Amino acid sequence: MAKHVLVTGGAGYIGSHACKALQAAGYVPVTYDSFVTGWREAVKFGPLEEGELSDRARLDEVFAKWQPVAVMHFAALSLVGESMQNPGKYWRENVLASLTLIEAACAAGCLDFVFSSTCATYGDQDGVVLDEATRQMPINAYGGSKRAIEDMLRDFGASHGLRSVIFRYFNVAGADPEAEVGEQHVPETHLIPLMLDAIAGKRSALTVFGSDYPTPDGTCIRDYVHVSDLVDAHVLGLKWLEAGKDSSVFCLGSGNGFSVREVIARSRDVTNQEVPIIEGARRPGDAAKLVSGSHRAVTELGWQPKRSDLRTMITDAWRWHQTPDYER
Ligand code: UDP
Repeated sequence: MAKHVLVTGGAGYIGSHACKALQAAGYVPVTYDSFVTGWREAVKFGPLEEGELSDRARLDEVFAKWQPVAVMHFAALSLVGESMQNPGKYWRENVLASLTLIEAACAAGCLDFVFSSTCATYGDQDGVVLDEATRQMPINAYGGSKRAIEDMLRDFGASHGLRSVIFRYFNVAGADPEAEVGEQHVPETHLIPLMLDAIAGKRSALTVFGSDYPTPDGTCIRDYVHVSDLVDAHVLGLKWLEAGKDSSVFCLGSGNGFSVREVIARSRDVTNQEVPIIEGARRPGDAAKLVSGSHRAVTELGWQPKRSDLRTMITDAWRWHQTPDYER
């Protein structure tokens, strides 16, 4: 019998790649998406159910129809800057909506739950290589909202037997190597796609957000992970739960940090073109450095990142940017 997995946000960047990986692993991904930020064209690997996360009746209907073995919960608002200006939106649409989803999953007896959390739950812990045991001290409402959902999962674990694998992502980048799906946000706020758009002349320049951080070249350092590697970890997380193992948290980083200027230099190498730059002010809510190891994911989950070197991530993103599906 087909094993269905309910993928919230399956029409989004990471969710669509997860659907491809789930299909390749023999599951049937059922995308649940409101299309506020997702793309219909990205739903290519399984059935679609349109709906809002906050719509309990609709969720109940979808759980009853597909009887999923697990939930993969990607749907979320994820803009740090926006979360600083409009925290209510993040607490409502991330936290409250996730509560509705968790309650619906528990009511349906779907008790395996894979959750996409974030390094933004750690806040700004200068110089520390973050891991699962590092204290979470978010400095923006986005990170706060994700930490709250982690807490809810633990509480529902104790009360309802919900078992969760929580992945704390660092910076997700790149695109499907076959360019079937890729990153497409409106508005786009992420460094690599904005830079590639500037190179392609689709925007006038890339603004570097702050050059006075306490880092070697003054720009922020981030740990970039290829989206295909990231979703591979999710399939392993699902298998972890199916094998009956305990709820767990895994950091998904590469252990390597790259500054904004280093990413710009590598993009210049990959595309053989100049990156037009404007030196701008700091963006509120940005930590100077966020780097994680992935020791636990590698040793316990058996995760083997294959494409998370900067050159491959930019090459794959650039390839996706050349396809007709990528529009700006
Ligand atoms: N960044 C930048 N200019 C941009 C977008 C991002 O300088 O137009 C910087 C940002 O300040 C951060 C890094 O690039 O240090 C990565 O930002 P992104 O928004 O891609 O991911 P985040 O770290 O917010 O998850």
